[in-house]
Amino acid sequence: MAVPTQVKLDARRLRADFPIFGEQIHSKPLAYLDSASSAQKPRQVLDAMREFYETSYANVHRGVYTLAVRSDERYEAARETARGFVNASSPREIIFTRGATEGLNLVAYAWGLANLGPGDVVLVTELDHHSNFVPWQFIAQRTGAAFRVLPIDDAGELQLDALDEMSASGTVKVVACNFVSNTLGTINPVERLAGWAHDQGAILVVDAAQAAPHVVVDVQALGCDFLALSSHKLCGPTGAGVLWGRRELLEAMPPFNLGGSMIRSVSAAKTTWNELPYKFEAGTPAIGEVVGMAEAMSYISAAGLDAIARHEHELLEHALDRLSEVPGITLYGPSPERRAGIVSFNLDGIHPHDVAQVLDWEGVAVRAGHHCTQPLMTKLGVAATTRASFYVYSIPEEVDRLVAGLHKVKRSLG
Ligand code: PLP
Repeated sequence: MAVPTQVKLDARRLRADFPIFGEQIHSKPLAYLDSASSAQKPRQVLDAMREFYETSYANVHRGVYTLAVRSDERYEAARETARGFVNASSPREIIFTRGATEGLNLVAYAWGLANLGPGDVVLVTELDHHSNFVPWQFIAQRTGAAFRVLPIDDAGELQLDALDEMSASGTVKVVACNFVSNTLGTINPVERLAGWAHDQGAILVVDAAQAAPHVVVDVQALGCDFLALSSHKLCGPTGAGVLWGRRELLEAMPPFNLGGSMIRSVSAAKTTWNELPYKFEAGTPAIGEVVGMAEAMSYISAAGLDAIARHEHELLEHALDRLSEVPGITLYGPSPERRAGIVSFNLDGIHPHDVAQVLDWEGVAVRAGHHCTQPLMTKLGVAATTRASFYVYSIPEEVDRLVAGLHKVKRSLG
């Protein structure tokens, strides 16, 4: 019997799909190592959006004319693509949002305000992005619930043995965590957190903004209750995202945004809500962006999420290996097998913004800052890091140019 071989990602072939790599930066080819912030867009996504606007665009869920029906069909086909992408059991569980931030705020406001109160505990983690940290902190304050933060260990992994102590201060109602940390790349044990949360009678809200572009996200296998992602991080346009929620929870929740499309009937005496998912999609949605997002989901699915994860893992190992040659470097985060293709580091005595500036002169784009994870920066004892992150189009030469650039940084600023 033939042994199935793992398909290897052909990053060089995929890279040719991305027009941005034709650009020169300071007369040098672009080395784009900031995909964790936002991914570049392939021609297929750009073409799909152009074709949609040129042939099928009208507002959705309003018109009966041919073009409006065509637009409706494309928009709802995108919902089906998104359903398949996260393996939801029904398209009614797929809410189109403007991005992960909006999806997480939707849950915090609509579910949180209706379900939290004094004596309850809201638990987030030290790894969380502000998008998942701050809305829960705010809603906990509004409702009188306690707000607790699960710490990480020195390797950058969640301290799961601290969970039970967290529940001592009240009834845990919400656990909110990211699937993949945008700063350290840590892959969190979402299934275990779901099991623990459900044992407490709590829901698990997963921020998959950083996971969905890089690993298979299967909401049924994860066992979570809500999951949010952004289009722009998975090669789609900005301004679109998905919130998946368990149908019974979404049905029971009040709406978040109010206005057109999300109502069934309106009168001065009483307004009633539309069925799922429209109850949570007030106003004209980002129609062309949703079409582009679906194309991006198809694009990365065709490349293969497992192949993407293996490709990034190889780049990560190469990067950790090469970066450790740089004198005075501190690398943050867990061992390569426990993380996605993200490397955060600092150079002794040189501010990350200066590092990023000098690297830009070499055509190397990296992110410097707190990466919207200030509680994590506090834990690491730094104000900021420099972060390099990889995606489908990343190639080892870009890592080598990063390392060469860092030697230059040391020579000019060290
Ligand atoms: N969560 C994580 C882990 C992220 O990395 C990001 C973006 O950097 C977000 C949430 C917020 O995503 P968006 O800005 O697309 O809403």
